[in-house]
Amino acid sequence: MFMKKRCILGESSGVRYINGILSWKGVQLNVHCFETDGVLIDTGAQSLLEEFKPFFANADIDQIIITHAHEDHSGGAGFLQNEYGLPIYINDMSIEECAEKAKYPLYRKWFWGKRQPFTAQPIEESFTSRNCSWSVITTPGHSHDHLAFLNNDTGQLFSGDLFVHPKTKLIMREESIPTIIASIEKVLALEFNELFCCHAGYVKEGRQALQNKLAYLYELRAQTLELYTKGCNSKEIQARLFPKKYPISRFSSGEWDSIHMINSIIKEAGTP
Ligand SMILES: [Zn+2]
Repeated sequence: MFMKKRCILGESSGVRYINGILSWKGVQLNVHCFETDGVLIDTGAQSLLEEFKPFFANADIDQIIITHAHEDHSGGAGFLQNEYGLPIYINDMSIEECAEKAKYPLYRKWFWGKRQPFTAQPIEESFTSRNCSWSVITTPGHSHDHLAFLNNDTGQLFSGDLFVHPKTKLIMREESIPTIIASIEKVLALEFNELFCCHAGYVKEGRQALQNKLAYLYELRAQTLELYTKGCNSKEIQARLFPKKYPISRFSSGEWDSIHMINSIIKEAGTP
């Protein structure tokens, strides 16, 4: 059975975007990249490159910034660098990884393709585009190198994978709920309203959406710790809080699972 691919192009509040959607055997994944004021935020996945090429060709870009090195955000970077000679900026801790051949599990190569190596430069704490000044916010948790970008002039936050879903049900093994909580608190201390999420897309009431997500994660942390204190182990807590199984958990051999949410909370709290 073939992978189905489709794309949606659009513009919200002065930001052009493309959303690429992949579906295969009941698993559907999508990713956006955004263009505004001469800046391209993220580059999509290698497996969507042919679909994204017309968007890149019509884009008016001076520079590329990447929220984190995951292959659905950095997969088009090699092409853009070779084709257009554009400078690419990323968290300096990921420059080496991006210069090498793709190293991630097979199911991710199947969905997102094999990211081609590219040469990135370290991003500073702030930068400017044609008409705007930007802040770069270190927001680990989803990945250790994760960054969010705030356009200070428009109050638009490009949040990478910090938001994704208001009620996260499963995360990847290396993610950490307590670290994500701290990163959301950090961006909420800044002035913004609209949010551009690499998976959910344009969120008009972005601040409110992140506040709701934070409240959900606080509640999840409290419930997890309460059950843990009562003597439940992480499997038992998972059965209580997340009884539903998702195809991606099986498909990824457990790299995506709600158990990682529980484990990261327990780990941070330490052994009582
Ligand atoms: Zn990611």
